[in-house]
Amino acid sequence: KLYNEVQELKGNIRVYCRLRPFLPSQFAKSTVDYIGDNGELGLVNPSRQGKDGHRVFKFNKVFGQTATQVQVFLDIQPLIRSVLDGYNVCIFAYGQTGSGKTYTMSGPDSPSEEEWGVNYRALNDLFEISQARRNAYTYEVKVQMPDGSAVPGASMVPVKSSSDVLARMKFGQANRAVGSTALNERIHVRGVDLKTGSTSRSCLHLIDLAGSERVDRSEVTGDRLKEAQYVNKSLSALSDVIFALSQKSAHIPYRNSKLTQILQSSLGGQAKTLMFVQVNPDGDSYSETLSTLKFAERVS
Ligand code: ADP
Ligand code: MG
Repeated sequence: KLYNEVQELKGNIRVYCRLRPFLPSQFAKSTVDYIGDNGELGLVNPSRQGKDGHRVFKFNKVFGQTATQVQVFLDIQPLIRSVLDGYNVCIFAYGQTGSGKTYTMSGPDSPSEEEWGVNYRALNDLFEISQARRNAYTYEVKVQMPDGSAVPGASMVPVKSSSDVLARMKFGQANRAVGSTALNERIHVRGVDLKTGSTSRSCLHLIDLAGSERVDRSEVTGDRLKEAQYVNKSLSALSDVIFALSQKSAHIPYRNSKLTQILQSSLGGQAKTLMFVQVNPDGDSYSETLSTLKFAERVS
C-alpha cells in the first residue's frame, strides 16, 4: 500500500498563487480582475483592450489580496503533518522582486504574531504535532540555514521549542538583508517509533527564491549582474526539473544547477512540493507577471 502511495505522489506538485495587496503608495488599477473559487486567476493587459488583453490561468488555489497569513497556512498544514509522517516536503516562493515572496515565507520585517510567515508557523506546527504524538513517537528537529550562498552543510542547529525557533528565524532575517540570492532553510526531522524502535528521517525545505525578473529588464551591472544571471540560470534549471517531474519524465535534470542539486531530495521521489506563485497587482509589472504566470502554468 505504501508503495502505491509513493507512486501516486511521484512528481506531485501543487501550485498556489498569491496576489499581494497594493502598498499604501500605490493607486494603480489591478492587473488581476478575477479570482475564482477553483483556483482561477484572470489577468488583464492594461495597455490592450478586448479579448486579446485578457487571460485566465488556473492553479490549485488562489489567495486574493485579503488572504491572511493564517488562512494561507491552513492550506499548508497537511504538508507539515506529512513531514512527521516521513515525507520530504519542499515549499518555495517564486515571483518577481516585490511580489511578496518573503512576506509569505517569513513575514514582513519585525512581524507581529499574526504576520508570521510559513517558516515560523511550520516549525511551530512541527513541535505541536510532535508533542501530541509524544506517547508513540519521539522527534528530533534540526534547522539548517545556508546563508545566501546556497551551500549545503552550513550551520545545523538543534531546536527544542518554538522560542528557539523564533530566535533562529530572527537570525535568518538578519542574514537575508545581506544578499538577495535564494534563501533556503532546511528542517531535518528524525522520528523514532517508540513501539517498534524504527526510525524515519525526513526534511522540510523552505525556499524564498531570488526575484524571477528577466536580467535584460533589470538595470544591474557588475556583481549584481553576475548574481542576477546566476539566479536566472538556477531558476531556468529549476523550471526544467519541475516541468520534467510534472510530465513524470524518466530523466529529471537535477545536475544542471547547484540549486536543483540541493533540492533533489525535496523534489520528486518520496517528496511533496508546493510552489507559491507570487503576483504583484501593479499594472507596470504586467509583463513580468505574465511571464511568471506562464512559468507557473507550465508546471502545474
Ligand atoms: P519579495 O520578497 O517578493 O521581493 P516582499 O515580501 O518583500 O517581496 O514584499 C514587498 C512588500 O510588500 C513588502 O513591504 C511586504 O511587507 C509587502 N507585502 C507583500 N505581501 C503582502 C501581504 N500579503 N500583505 C501585506 N503586505 C505585503
Ligand atoms: Mg524577498
